[in-house]
Amino acid sequence: MKAAVVPAMHSQWRIQEVPKPEPGPNQVLIRIRASGICYTDVHQTNGALPGNFPRILGHEPVGEIVAVGPGVTARKVGDRVGVPWIQATCGRCEWCKRGKPMFCEQQVGTSGAAQGGHAEYMLAFAGATMLLPDGLSYEQAAPIFCAGYTVWSGLRWADPQPGQRVAVAGIGGLGHLAVQYAKAAGFDTIAISRSPDKDTLIRQLGADEIVRDGQGLARVGGADVILSTSNSTDAMADSIQGLRPDGRFVAMGFDPKPLQLSLADLITRRIRIIGSQQNGPEYLYEALDLAAKGKVKVLAETYRLDEINRAYERVEKGQVRFRAVVTD
Ligand SMILES: [Zn+2]
Ligand SMILES: [Zn+2]
Repeated sequence: MKAAVVPAMHSQWRIQEVPKPEPGPNQVLIRIRASGICYTDVHQTNGALPGNFPRILGHEPVGEIVAVGPGVTARKVGDRVGVPWIQATCGRCEWCKRGKPMFCEQQVGTSGAAQGGHAEYMLAFAGATMLLPDGLSYEQAAPIFCAGYTVWSGLRWADPQPGQRVAVAGIGGLGHLAVQYAKAAGFDTIAISRSPDKDTLIRQLGADEIVRDGQGLARVGGADVILSTSNSTDAMADSIQGLRPDGRFVAMGFDPKPLQLSLADLITRRIRIIGSQQNGPEYLYEALDLAAKGKVKVLAETYRLDEINRAYERVEKGQVRFRAVVTD
């Protein structure tokens, strides 16, 4: 099969022939129909996240099951599925026993310990796959498995109350979905965007207001929840100026630089800084459901697998409007 292989840290991806895998016990083989490229792919290529090389990245894979391994009962050939980041955990540690596998230290992650989706075929543990809702195209479904799942998890975790205002910082792959999810859930939604050239698109996504930074957010009355999808620690720190008392800042974008905070802000406004990730399959189900109902639409640039280096370059430079998806 053809796959995009990252030969070594910091190296250019290479399209090459690799052996087509066979499903082992409890695994399924998926013919990949769409695979989104996340900014995390850049962090992985640069070694900022753990993982061996050579390896195949891609943690937004969707496709059709073409073979099932021994012991698989809940999935069958022909099923349309996607696979989130966590495929398997130890099942024995405190966090696995508590039903919080995201905190297990022995995770098998899609594109980490397990092969990712930038390929013609991919193996996955059957129990980790999620059936796609009818009517949701592969191209629309793929980015929900990281970008959509992450931002919807963050919004649910922040627990906004009726009438509260939600701001989204960073309008890219995650942010363009976060704006739509916040609107779909009925909240006044403010986009924090430094790129005026995106304003028309951001309005079309449903944003009620667009501001440029934290002070701009404060000037329009602030937000009770900031969903931060930015990849810049400085931009995150800046946006906190626009958080209302008792507000929640939800960090989802990653930057290795530490976040510095004013303790006066924390104390006097009693704000909360919350980390969030993909917080459980219930939220993935909801994120997919809203996409299937047409309330959230992925704006994607599509590429063929052999064009993936061009797509990667645009992701790396922040030029993609708003998600790059490899389709077959
Ligand atoms: Zn991702
Ligand atoms: Zn565990």
